[in-house]
Amino acid sequence: MNGATVIRNARHWRTGERLDLAFDRGVILASPLREASRVIDARGLTLAPGLVDLHVHLREPGQASKETIERGTRAAAAGGFTAVACMPNSEPVLDSPAWIEWVRARAEAAGWCRVHPIGAVTVGQKGEQLTEFSSLKSAGAAALSDDGRPIMSAAVMRHALEYARPTGLPIICHEEDASLKGDGVMHEGFTATRLGLRGIPGAAESVLCRRDADLSELTGGRVHLAHLSASASFDALRDAKRRGLAVTGETCPHYWVLTDEAVGDYDTHAKMNPPLRSEADRDACIAAIVDGTIDCFSTDHAPHTADEKARPFTDAPFGIVGLETALALTLTHLVAPGHLTLARALERWTEAPRRAFRLPEVSLAPGSPADLVVFDPVAEWTVDPDAFFSKGRNTPFAGWRLRGRVLATMLAGRFTHVAGGVEFAAASEATGASR
Ligand SMILES: [Zn+2]
Repeated sequence: MNGATVIRNARHWRTGERLDLAFDRGVILASPLREASRVIDARGLTLAPGLVDLHVHLREPGQASKETIERGTRAAAAGGFTAVACMPNSEPVLDSPAWIEWVRARAEAAGWCRVHPIGAVTVGQKGEQLTEFSSLKSAGAAALSDDGRPIMSAAVMRHALEYARPTGLPIICHEEDASLKGDGVMHEGFTATRLGLRGIPGAAESVLCRRDADLSELTGGRVHLAHLSASASFDALRDAKRRGLAVTGETCPHYWVLTDEAVGDYDTHAKMNPPLRSEADRDACIAAIVDGTIDCFSTDHAPHTADEKARPFTDAPFGIVGLETALALTLTHLVAPGHLTLARALERWTEAPRRAFRLPEVSLAPGSPADLVVFDPVAEWTVDPDAFFSKGRNTPFAGWRLRGRVLATMLAGRFTHVAGGVEFAAASEATGASR
């Protein structure tokens, strides 16, 4: 008897072939062992490398009423994630090595998920003075961003890209021209007019996408365009790739699932930034996913308290939670309608984000860390925000029927999430465990 665990009869996430996989001491083994201490029968279930979310707000330090590192990373595990990158717009801002180390230490103590903190580009995210990029990197920062707000000065962005270049870190751009946004609270269009709310045009995003692609060309620095929502922004990213620039981009499930009509009657759970846009933008989002313009997916998990979201629409904060619905929204709204194969959809949550941020590779190959997810690709469930592990309940998908359910998540071989339907058996009881 040894300490190994074997997952039997799973379906390989890429090939669809039947797969037995064993791991021990956190690492995937070369072949399923004859004697394992634990066997999981994964018949009918898909086995994939753990998902990665490059865009998460864990809200600590300073905003624990919205979310904590403990709860946010537990939610990540429930969503099938084994790694997240967290944004620095906490209080205080993650603009020093000490705060990067603090987040890493807290995440490690919680133990639910690997956390790659993102350092601020400018001190206090004020858009002026650059932080110490190389010390942030040494402390463990995986990327740099002033996310939550745009860097409005092109000169500051230019210098940031020049200064970041030798570190190899990408700058994640929250693209939102402040003068075009004004005091807009939702997408500029018919619904905003009907509700008498101020609108934010898609161009508020796309003009900065174009600017930062040009600045990447000028400096050679790496640009990662965050949470793209507008048709013209997808065009800007497509164009940047055609020019061979070091520009990557992500979009989030709500942009391929919803439009501004979800705001309905001032529903603050449909208030996010960038805003839900038109049907044409949603179509362009799906087209950009299908043709490979969009590198990877992210959730922009942005928890807020119920009190904050209960405010009038114009005063409520922007943002929704996303970690616990991401995979199901992908399977239900991209894979089931035939826009993407399961393998291509999962690539955007696994290999592609790791490539974009140059995170350590994770695969099912022997020697890889056993960062894994087992899910039922067709099981249906109903979204119940009260059952979320996240402190945030702010989702527009409450009550939605979705397909695809995470049943087990493993981080370095440790189970960080197990849901009903997965049965563990001692090897001795599982007849036929050895082959
Ligand atoms: Zn943002």
